[in-house]
Amino acid sequence: MSLRIVVCVKYVPDATGDRHFADDLTVDRDDVDGLLSELDEYAVEQALQIADEADDAEITVLTVGPEDAKDALRKALSMGADKAVHVEDDDLHGTDVMGTSLVLAKAIEKTGYDLVIAGMASTDGTMGVLPAILAERLGVPQVTLLSEVSVEDGVVKGRRDGDTASEQLEASLPAVVSVTDQSGEARYPSFKGIMAAKKKPVESLDLDDLDIDAEEVGLEGAWTKVDSAAERPARTAGTIVKDEGEGGKQLAEFLAGQKFI
Ligand SMILES: Cc1cc2nc3c(=O)[nH]c(=O)nc-3n(C[C@H](O)[C@H](O)[C@H](O)COP(=O)(O)OP(=O)(O)OC[C@H]3O[C@@H](n4cnc5c(N)ncnc54)[C@H](O)[C@@H]3O)c2cc1C
Repeated sequence: MSLRIVVCVKYVPDATGDRHFADDLTVDRDDVDGLLSELDEYAVEQALQIADEADDAEITVLTVGPEDAKDALRKALSMGADKAVHVEDDDLHGTDVMGTSLVLAKAIEKTGYDLVIAGMASTDGTMGVLPAILAERLGVPQVTLLSEVSVEDGVVKGRRDGDTASEQLEASLPAVVSVTDQSGEARYPSFKGIMAAKKKPVESLDLDDLDIDAEEVGLEGAWTKVDSAAERPARTAGTIVKDEGEGGKQLAEFLAGQKFI
């Protein structure tokens, strides 16, 4: 039987561009370019490697995000995933991690799965908690932060590297895993892959399709609330210490003044 892999990929604002808050203190996603979160490319790569080793496997890439999030799906498809699911709905505006995990869980259940692979954290929210919440919602084991992952005989195995030890972990399928940026370089899409991706199916779903009420998501359903936010002040020119014999002393005084020493 085919191994059904679902990879969660997030479309994030480009960190090299200007980013701003909207009036309701959500991230302004309208005027910024976005891209597939770099850390999710590792998740796609591991899915492709697991599929290569399996007799028969199908990889679905899944995103919850605005219209432009299709770009992230296309990139994952051009790397080699088979099909994509895009959940988009105006009522998702302001959804926090609890709502996002609910939507992903419902979409994953609708798609069907044996293994869910996520990145270790998104490059914008960087909470790193979504995979664990997702596993809880799906009622399946979670094996997170893996730097090595494989599937054999209905069991997912992996290595989690900590500061002082490495753990070998395994769980029976179905399960949720997340992979780190140490799991292996993600491949670049080939020209053939980019052309093939244009013909691969992208299914669009909204909240109705997933039987989710608008009140369960969005700002109304969020468990967290942003009370205030301020843009980071522009960088100042900095202090230049010219060494005319007293450089070391001045440097020490500067560091002491900043409470670094
Ligand atoms: C239209 C829209 C508006 C939003 N507005 C807000 C808001 O105002 N306030 C707020 O707190 N949050 C908002 N979110 C949700 C937020 O962007 C995150 O998706 C969510 O909070 C998860 O946090 P994280 O990205 O830090 O997750 P992490 O736990 O860091 O993510 C780990 C992994 O989970 C997967 N993942 C995370 N998010 C998604 C996703 N959307 N689709 C597919 N896979 C995913 C990826 O594999 C990722 O590597 C919004 C999301 C959408 C789609």
